[in-house]
Amino acid sequence: MNAAFDGIILGAGHNALVLQAYLARCGLKTLSLDRAPIPGGGLMTIDNPRLPGFRHNPHSFFHRGVTAMPWYRDLELERHGVRYLQPKLNVAMILRDGRALEWWTDLDRTVASCADFSTSDADELWRLAEEFKPIVERILLPEAQSPPLEPGLRHRLLERSALGRRLLEISALSPLEFVTGHFENDTVRAGLLFFNGLREVDLRLKGFGHSIPALLASRAKAQMAVGGTASLAHGLVADITQHGGEVRCGIELRRILVRNGRVSGVELATGEQLHANDFVASGLNPQQTFLDLMPREAVPASLRNAAAQFQYNLLAPLFGLHLALDEPPRYAAAERCPELNQAFMVLIGLERFGQFHEIVAAHERGEIPPPVAWGACPTLFDSSQAPPGKHTAFLWEKLPYALHGDPSNWAREKEAHGARLLRLWSERTPNLGHGIIKDQFVFSPADTETALPNMSRGDLLVGSFANNQVGYHRPFAGAGCYRTPVPGLYLCGGSTHPGGNITGLCGYNAARVIAADLGKVIWWNPPDVEQALSAL
Ligand SMILES: Cc1cc2nc3c(=O)[nH]c(=O)nc-3n(C[C@H](O)[C@H](O)[C@H](O)COP(=O)(O)OP(=O)(O)OC[C@H]3O[C@@H](n4cnc5c(N)ncnc54)[C@H](O)[C@@H]3O)c2cc1C
Repeated sequence: MNAAFDGIILGAGHNALVLQAYLARCGLKTLSLDRAPIPGGGLMTIDNPRLPGFRHNPHSFFHRGVTAMPWYRDLELERHGVRYLQPKLNVAMILRDGRALEWWTDLDRTVASCADFSTSDADELWRLAEEFKPIVERILLPEAQSPPLEPGLRHRLLERSALGRRLLEISALSPLEFVTGHFENDTVRAGLLFFNGLREVDLRLKGFGHSIPALLASRAKAQMAVGGTASLAHGLVADITQHGGEVRCGIELRRILVRNGRVSGVELATGEQLHANDFVASGLNPQQTFLDLMPREAVPASLRNAAAQFQYNLLAPLFGLHLALDEPPRYAAAERCPELNQAFMVLIGLERFGQFHEIVAAHERGEIPPPVAWGACPTLFDSSQAPPGKHTAFLWEKLPYALHGDPSNWAREKEAHGARLLRLWSERTPNLGHGIIKDQFVFSPADTETALPNMSRGDLLVGSFANNQVGYHRPFAGAGCYRTPVPGLYLCGGSTHPGGNITGLCGYNAARVIAADLGKVIWWNPPDVEQALSAL
């Protein structure tokens, strides 16, 4: 052993960094280790190697409600230079005929746009948003920001109040059942499932009926980090190092060390051993943690089996097309409605509700579905991401990881698919066909897994929400709540509650658990979910 820390964290994705920042402020000597050359995981902004000054965000871009997250405030990230923007026309679903369903940060404007399609749906949208506001504030937020309650206790507490019973009633539905039960217009149904459902959970899954009204009611809208998503990682690392923590990148891990049944550190591919006196926390997925890195004999067979059975989202993988431009994309539909050229997230190709079934069926077959794509032009809002007067833009599409049954097919097909996607985009934005594209590159679902191996099968949510892999049972029964059955070993990445996406809440919740186990003072003020649900 040639170095000693209180705790070592595997991976330096944003959840790991949030955890490390809290523990560093507890006075613990911590080290995070990442195989990538830079920290941040899904918080990545790259310089275009062919065109200096153009910056692209190949992974996450739309960060929902980050500035309202408790860790954003507790870690004083704005003091470290982090800034976010929240464009008012937050999402626009542009139809082939030039009409658009618009989602504004102002609910009244969203309702007005919905009314262009159906007045009764607009009324229902407003009613549901109002009804769900207290459910979001008093139940769902404290739940997301806390280690999950044991399901029986949660159910008993929710059963006691009208708000809790309403949540249980709606949750019992699938997003699909919720949308068809509450909305009549085909476009509105399609938009709701896209904006609030399909991006996060399989629309057929019972138990998620609340996800759509919760997002309608939530104050958390899509935001973007000024300077690129990596600036959030820079802020987190700055806070960690200021409080004595260390982040090392370009590190290959060989194994987690175990002594007398307790984790005691890690060994690197170089043979160097790093000792952890108190804990090792893994921001990686359960298979990497329990099967690849833990010694076989130190993991009970039942735990190995559970890790092996951990499942990934079939519908989560994304294909990305990234452009460097002389001018921003100008949508043909903006001739009628100029504000569309200032929309933050733009969705094209989605015209009708039935397309969801086609998308799901194509994914199940490993085939490319008819195109539905969404993206943004970051430089419309933040000129620092391109040279003066120039722009970047991207479009994402949900495509299968195992293309025609094998992810290696992407290497052969990705450029041709990028060209097809560009044709769809150019149909809606004629100026893209007028020589304004200076450079382009694509990123396939297989590339996601190569860049971030914890996103197994290209699953950007780091584990499906099906297979009982939610809440108290995420990643699986016996390893929920961030503790694992192996003494001293914790989990903190997107495969834990509340799951993937840039929420930082997996790391935030893990920090509370680890600090409490180590007898540290919890210097921040996390919610008490049991008390919150008891007080409904
Ligand atoms: C194309 C794409 C678009 C996305 N868009 C959005 C979006 O708009 N909004 C949103 O909220 N989310 C988005 N996401 C999802 C989001 O990026 C992830 O859910 C999130 O990054 C997960 O955070 P994490 O901290 O759990 O892990 P990650 O961010 O994945 O970080 C894990 C870290 O572990 C490291 N690692 C992996 N394996 C090893 C190993 N063996 N040894 C050492 N280190 C290792 C990785 O290098 C990485 O740094 C997107 C993801 C992708 C791929």
